Amino acid sequence: MNTAIILAAGKGSRMKAQLNKQYLILKEKPILAHTISVFEESSLIDEIILVIGEFEHELCKNKILDKYKFKKVKKIISGGKERQDSVLNGIKAVNEKTDIVLIHDGARPLITRKIIKKCVDSAKKHGAASAGVPIKETIKIMGKDKFVKYTPKREDVWVTQTPQAFRIDVIKRAHEFAIEQEVLGTDDAMLVEHMGEHVKMVEGDYENIKITTPDDLITAEAILGHKRKRR
Ligand code: C5P
Repeated sequence: MNTAIILAAGKGSRMKAQLNKQYLILKEKPILAHTISVFEESSLIDEIILVIGEFEHELCKNKILDKYKFKKVKKIISGGKERQDSVLNGIKAVNEKTDIVLIHDGARPLITRKIIKKCVDSAKKHGAASAGVPIKETIKIMGKDKFVKYTPKREDVWVTQTPQAFRIDVIKRAHEFAIEQEVLGTDDAMLVEHMGEHVKMVEGDYENIKITTPDDLITAEAILGHKRKRR
């Protein structure tokens, strides 16, 4: 079975809003409700574990769970200080029959069922997979002194997105290894890389943005209003 862990326990301070960004409204619906809906509607997802802020259970119940009544949301658990802590709490809660775990940012509401499928298929085949897109700009690797150290070849550089999907044994080992080695990753693929194992990149979508700043909300509104080839 396939389990999706949806993360919504971040503070989102860059959003400069009173409310946790995941509960802000995007086209008449909270961002997090958009995100959960896509996983709920994917035939590949059997259960959803929602990881939310320790003090936001009431908020989540009122704004999301009571209203949208998602059937696949089987567990609602509290996140931790860092994203990695939140993921680990989610991993500990997955069903014992789970083969593939998808980890997804609640703040990426424009995810599609097509990307979910690509990630699941690739994780089954390779053990670890991440959605991503080729970079459009030229990237510079900088020194601490703000002088450019070097310029990687553009075709070698991709932007990582979520979902990232893993065989359960791989992601469990990766988190155990990270604790042992005191590695703090900004995504989960990084923890697999640290073990020296391969992560397959699958093509996501430039529209699968993470809502981080107020501008992103405007972009997401525009994408949703313009077309929805999603699902
Ligand atoms: O902070 P950032 O935007 O990178 O967070 C990505 C996702 O991880 C967000 O959906 C956020 O809610 C989640 N997160 C979490 N627990 C944390 C930090 C971030 O669930 N401690």
